[in-house]
Amino acid sequence: MITLPCNTHLYFNTNMGIQKPENIINRGASCPFCETEKLKDIIAQKGEMILLKNKYPVLAETYPLVLIETEDCDSELSLYRKEHLFQLIEFGLSHWLRLLDSNEFRSVIFFKNHGPKSGGTIRHPHMQIIGLNHLDSNRLVEPVHFEGIPIAKCDQVEWNLSTSPRMGFYEFNVVSEHGENKQMAEFIQNSCHYILNHFYSCDSYNLFFYQVGPKLIAKIIPRFVTSPLFVGYSIPQVAMNLDDVVKAVQKLYI
Ligand SMILES: [Zn+2]
Repeated sequence: MITLPCNTHLYFNTNMGIQKPENIINRGASCPFCETEKLKDIIAQKGEMILLKNKYPVLAETYPLVLIETEDCDSELSLYRKEHLFQLIEFGLSHWLRLLDSNEFRSVIFFKNHGPKSGGTIRHPHMQIIGLNHLDSNRLVEPVHFEGIPIAKCDQVEWNLSTSPRMGFYEFNVVSEHGENKQMAEFIQNSCHYILNHFYSCDSYNLFFYQVGPKLIAKIIPRFVTSPLFVGYSIPQVAMNLDDVVKAVQKLYI
């Protein structure tokens, strides 16, 4: 028996879920985000970037939006030229903050999936912004999740590797003290690039955004098969070679 509204769980519409296209594993399938002339419910557009309502609103009691990042189906956030990267992060943050400030939702989540182990279904580079009617997305988020060994700090933006990750084993944090977002965008891009090119043959990551007081924070998590200790007991694990990873990242990007 389902009881709505609920402030601890989101309800997934299974009937709609099975209609949803998938091409992240099945790469031969057609891409709905390439066929821009067929897109409906467009909310905003800037250059190649398009913000629209999700055609498959699988989560009950939510307002789901999709942000198509580029017209190039095979591109990736880690590959964007700086100008496009800055425009994308600015465009995404401004619409996420607009929904947050509207006070129409209990909370608003802003995130991105990339790769077969990320939980995403469509390969074409995109992000999601979802207003949640009843659930507080920060309910289980703690400040300590964003603390870590510093990799770099510039323009009041810190890039670190989590010492108390939410899930483990490795989580990159980008903490912008006053919301400055160009340096934030660069550290996010470097995290994604490192994960996809220099990190245990990893092909998948998630990117999540958080607002904590005046701070804007991004968390980038390389994705592998999820640890059973986390699945069964919510026990996060921390790798014991964090210092080595920090040094390797500094050598490549700083
Ligand atoms: Zn596409």
